[in-house]
Amino acid sequence: MNDEAILGLIKAEENRQRDGLELIPSENYVSHDVLAAMGSVFTNKYSEGFPSFSELDADEREIAEKIMPSFRYYGGQENTNRVERLAISRACKLFKADHANVQPHSGAQANNAVYFAWCETGDTILGLDLGHGGHLTHGAPVTQSAQVYNFVRYKTTENGDLDYDEIARLAKKHRPKIILVGFSAYPKVPDFARVAEIGREYGSLLMADMAHVAGLIAGGAHPNPFDFGFHVMTTTTHKTLRGPRGGLILSRGKVGNPLKKPTKTLENIPTLIDRAVFPGTQGGPLMHVIAAKAVAFHEALQPEFKKYAEQIVKNAKRLAKELTARGFELVFSGTENHLILVDMMKSFGIDGKELEMALDKIGLNLNANAIPNDTLPAFRPSGVRLGTPAITTRGLLEKDMVRIAEWMRLALENRKNDQKLEKLRAEVREFSHRFPLPSDN
Ligand SMILES: *Cc1c(COP(=O)(O)O)cnc(C)c1O
Repeated sequence: MNDEAILGLIKAEENRQRDGLELIPSENYVSHDVLAAMGSVFTNKYSEGFPSFSELDADEREIAEKIMPSFRYYGGQENTNRVERLAISRACKLFKADHANVQPHSGAQANNAVYFAWCETGDTILGLDLGHGGHLTHGAPVTQSAQVYNFVRYKTTENGDLDYDEIARLAKKHRPKIILVGFSAYPKVPDFARVAEIGREYGSLLMADMAHVAGLIAGGAHPNPFDFGFHVMTTTTHKTLRGPRGGLILSRGKVGNPLKKPTKTLENIPTLIDRAVFPGTQGGPLMHVIAAKAVAFHEALQPEFKKYAEQIVKNAKRLAKELTARGFELVFSGTENHLILVDMMKSFGIDGKELEMALDKIGLNLNANAIPNDTLPAFRPSGVRLGTPAITTRGLLEKDMVRIAEWMRLALENRKNDQKLEKLRAEVREFSHRFPLPSDN
């Protein structure tokens, strides 16, 4: 690379990642192959549209492809079509879906496309409150979608379950077009069957935003919402799924011609979604990223990925235990997935930002996060959120969680002692170097 300034920063970022351990639960380290696909010449290609009826029956497909080999607006698509079809079929296999739209540029784009596919302006969507672990895109007032749709938020109960009685009550009252189950800071496994039952009663579209746990679902370490009658699942591809930054929409239903507007029925959801992604909410797909998604899906279909997903959960449970033993009080007293929430105010009388900043200085990264019914402001909330997807990719096992919990305790204790923090940083660096980044291999 000739751009010295950028090259220098790439090298610096590689070193930052090698020198520390990533505990932010929404981050991960991709493989060399995923990086290579992302850095490929597919970035040069415009391919607005879709790669034809790849999911139709074989004979139907033959006819369809004769008439129109692909629904693209530009020529030169023989390779992009194959890449996108591969990404779609691998995603469908991985998540037991009838259809996959692999084009969303991000998780937020994926969610917006689903809302746009199924709702009219002003329609009601039920989602988990941001302060109780939901995501910004689930109707936080600062978002564009909150201005278009009527979001009604449910919360979690005292013992950390989604408040299913409240979901039932709100569904009865508002007859929501969509009931959305999804979270960014929630350490339990939702009762999908219970939500599905409520949704069926009111004819709501059942949507799961599994951005955080998609990799666990792919690896069989978390239930798959499709097994409980959910119609749509959105996800990011860069969190536990360990692919490039991007979004993905999976659905059940009949895959049809995206050029023809179908009637709004649950059966037509796959086609409604395709049209809502393009031309509804996006322009040209990022084909280099779609190539990298295809690589990541292939990796997630391998038997080793199942072990990876299981190890993420084992590590999280062990880390939760070690932290508890050191006085960190966990929200909902533990974890059932990859994610841990600590109530720093209750544990030590400090806010989450203070621990985040101390840990930054020693090379452990996590983020300050609101806890349910937090009384502190969003930029200095009471809790911290951490998780094990990235460190499990590095190769850390349960026994290593002891060390991480101990470093967290020491950083907390010495947060005003820069000399001591410097010493801890050297220890973390030395330890981290034993676990190379996957892209170094
Ligand atoms: C991360 C996340 C998103 C958003 O993904 P981006 O790619 O950052 O837009 C959406 N929903 C949930 C539940 C998430 O955790």
